[in-house]
Amino acid sequence: GESRPLSGVIGDEDAIRQLPMEAIAGVEKVIPILKPFKLVSRDFKPKDTVVRVRDVEIGGGSFAVMAGPCSVEDREMLIDIAENVKRMGARILRGGAFKPRTSPYSFQGLGEEGLKYLAEAREKTGMPVITELMDPRDSELVERYTDIIQIGTRNMANFTLLKEVGSMKKPVMLKRGLMSTVKEFLMSAEYIASEGNLNIILCERGIRTFEDSTRNTLDISAVPVIKALTHLPIIVDPSHASGRRDLIGPLSRAATVVGADGLMVEVHINPELAKSDGQQSLTYAQFGEVMDSVRELLPLAGKKM
Ligand code: PEP
Ligand code: MN
Repeated sequence: GESRPLSGVIGDEDAIRQLPMEAIAGVEKVIPILKPFKLVSRDFKPKDTVVRVRDVEIGGGSFAVMAGPCSVEDREMLIDIAENVKRMGARILRGGAFKPRTSPYSFQGLGEEGLKYLAEAREKTGMPVITELMDPRDSELVERYTDIIQIGTRNMANFTLLKEVGSMKKPVMLKRGLMSTVKEFLMSAEYIASEGNLNIILCERGIRTFEDSTRNTLDISAVPVIKALTHLPIIVDPSHASGRRDLIGPLSRAATVVGADGLMVEVHINPELAKSDGQQSLTYAQFGEVMDSVRELLPLAGKKM
């Protein structure tokens, strides 16, 4: 009889069973999606999502490297780092202005001043920037300056924050919680997607295990596991995963070959003097070598940088 706007139902079998009959009367076909995550699942959208930020693409065969200091420390230093990582092939500049530090007495970041330096570095180099949002009260401020909003590992299950960025217009990079399963990780991505923002990049950054020779344990198998479950791009952060400068090369190459859509790497003009994460930050020369070796492997992975 009357035309219905409803053409399908998103929900698991239980949810569909609980629908009142009149809600689905006239609906031709109801396809239950069996995974607990829906909008981000491959069942829902088989084709790879490509996240576009200015002239950079991440996903669907485009490999993108994000690089820069752990924290934004100073204007000239940030611009120097940006110019150098760009010269070696990085496409996106990273740098924290709000830092989630283990100790309240450690450097907490420059806040808005740091965001301004990031915007200046973007002006100078043309590189889009990514920075972390920790507090929903800062969301307007961070969105004003950044191109990609980063949700850190410690906030992966901060559902208030996830809903907040889900209603924002800019792409979001969600880092895996350090004690989270792949399913929980994708449920968090679903929180963002369910508010309307489907421009999500996932980031595997190591999980906590009993192993203490590295800061965390890079879950390299998570990359193909996640690729099979979701259409969203997934990148790897070997810096926070290992906490060790000497492992960034091998882990970056492993990530490339296993099918990651990009990398996030910490680089500093002088790692010894970095205000945070110096022990895992690369010099310009070391970053250049990692980029050269990754570039050689890209044809094997069927990707282009
Ligand atoms: C970061 O990338 O700046 C960071 C703090 O990483 P994580 O949230 O993965 O620890
Ligand atoms: Mn760091």
